[in-house]
Parts: sequence; C-alpha cells; structure tokens
Amino acid sequence: MILVTGGAGYIGSHVNKELNKQGYETVVLDNLSYGHDDFVKWGTLERVDLSNTREIRRVFQDYAFEAVLHFAAFTYVGESVENPQKYYLNNLRNTLNLLEVMLEFEVKKLVFSSTCATYGDPIEIPITEEHPQTPINPYGRGKLMMEQILRDYSQAYGLRYASLRYFNAAGADPDGEVGEMHNPETHLIPLILDAALGKREAIKIFGTDYPTEDGTCIRDYIHVTDLADAHIKALKYLENRGESDVFNLGNGNGFSVREVIEEARKVTGREIKAIETDRRPGDPPILVGSSEKAREILKWQPRFYDLSQIISTAWKWHENLKKRDKGT
Ligand code: UDP
Repeated sequence: MILVTGGAGYIGSHVNKELNKQGYETVVLDNLSYGHDDFVKWGTLERVDLSNTREIRRVFQDYAFEAVLHFAAFTYVGESVENPQKYYLNNLRNTLNLLEVMLEFEVKKLVFSSTCATYGDPIEIPITEEHPQTPINPYGRGKLMMEQILRDYSQAYGLRYASLRYFNAAGADPDGEVGEMHNPETHLIPLILDAALGKREAIKIFGTDYPTEDGTCIRDYIHVTDLADAHIKALKYLENRGESDVFNLGNGNGFSVREVIEEARKVTGREIKAIETDRRPGDPPILVGSSEKAREILKWQPRFYDLSQIISTAWKWHENLKKRDKGT
C-alpha cells in the first residue's frame, strides 16, 4: 500500500492514477483545501489535515504502508512572500508531522515534491542538481529546508528519499480523467486556455524586456504525465534499495511566453488576445533544467516533450471543464 499525500491535487492525482495503473494500491491523504475529491478516482480517500498528527497516526494504523509520496503543499510563490507563516506551517511543520509518524511506523521510503524554485536566480543554464541553491522566496526556502532536513533524517534514521525538483508542470492526463484546476489560477498555460475559451478577455504577458530573444521569460514545461512516470520510477528506485538522492525533472527545452501563446493559438485555432504588461516580481528570465541524472539513474524518458502535445492535452481538459460547467 502506498500513501499519496495531496493526491487530490494537480500532480498528485496524475501520479495516483499512474500508480494504480501499474498495480499499486493507494491511499490518498488530502484535506481538500485545494484538492478536488472527484480527482481521487483511484484508491481510497482519507480526508485528513497534516497538521493533525493524531489523525495521521490513525491512518498509518489502518493501513500498512510501504512508501509515501508527499505532494501536499502550498505552491503559490507570491502568496508565500505575503504570508510566509502559512507556507512554513504547512510545507515544513506538517511535513515534519508526516515524517514523525513515518518513523514511528518504520515507513522509510519517501518521494518528496521539491522544486526548481530552490535554485533561485540561475547562474548557469541548463540547471543541474549541482547548481547552488539560493532560493529567493519563502516557498523555495521552505522546500530547500525540507530537502536539508531529509538529508539529516536519512543519515540519522535510515530514511531513504528521492527529492524531485520539478520545473514547470503543465498539460493534463491524455485520457482526460484529471487535469489542472487551481483556484485562483496563476499559471500561464491554463490562463491562456481560459482566454481561448473566452473565460478571460486576454492573457497578460508579464514583462517584454527580459534578456531573451523575444524579451519574454523562458521556462521548461514538463508534462504532468511524464512527471507521474518519473515518480513511479523514483519509487521503484527506492524499492530496489537506491540511495537517497535528488533529481531534476524538466524536459530540457525552454519556451518563451510568446512562444507558448503562439503555440496555443495553433492548437486551439482561437485568436487569444495578449496584453503586454510589467514584469511580475521574482521571475528569473530563464529557467531550464537538465534532467540527465533522472534519465541516467531512473531511466526516465519524457514522452510529451513537444509543446503542442502539452498544450493539446491541457486544451482537451479545459474544453471538457467548460462543458461540465455549463452542464452540457
Ligand atoms: N506568465 C505571464 N502571464 C501570466 C502568468 C504567467 O506572462 O498571466 C509568465 C510568468 O511571468 C513566467 C511564465 O509565464 O515567466 C510561467 O509562469 P507560471 O506562473 O505558469 O509558472 P512559474 O514559472 O511562476 O512557476
């Protein structure tokens, strides 16, 4: 039995699907603060908040877990600057609660959701795992602190973990069963698709004076199904007695904001109005990762590396959401 915390969220739900597809049994632990219960189509949902150690303990008593995949966390960079306490309590303290119970029950395999935000402003592209980690916001700092704590726990208590540093997760399950549904939505691709659907008037381009070819920020968009696959491979790596380690997960290709909008126009066949605005504070010009290590050690191979595939799967999901909202 595998515990998937945050399995009702965007990335967690895709991983939960993949785990079940590959024959694992899962329990999803989620407080549904941002998750959606209808994303838990596989396994059993336990509606529990990780601030409640007694309840975590109860779940560990009810099931015999072999490993934990820990997605439950807040992820809005801007909000973490305004309200760092919210982030440190949830992303740090609640993770410590989870670890406390894992150790009590001798569950010693963990796949942890980390982020490229732990690197801060890159001094070298592509970013490898050896790149200095100097995060520039509380979200990134909290994730980095957790990585450091995991290292200590690993040495002292024999916990084995894989810390996965995601670049920009994007796209949706190609079968259309789960997808991206943040509230509020702040991410580029869903916002562009909302504009394509007429749910928003336009997409704002945050900054056109960056030192890139077309002046807009470049990001490494990695398909959520490829991310899901990497988690299963990381789990298998730990099952095969792999040592604790960290892995970047990106597709190694950078796309500018303008390129993403242009590709979305092609995929959707819609006009999509774009408005050029000021930079969003805290956005580095270029974030592109090297995932060579995950390819070599985990034998991970992204399949949806092409931007049009990423946007097409997200588009299918967004169109269905709109139909569902209308009740058609
Ligand atoms: N972005 C934008 N307009 C938006 C949202 C995002 O121009 O309405 C840009 C943002 O500045 C960044 C890129 O799109 O360069 C990806 O942003 P997102 O919020 O999706 O992910 P992040 O890189 O912040 O994790």
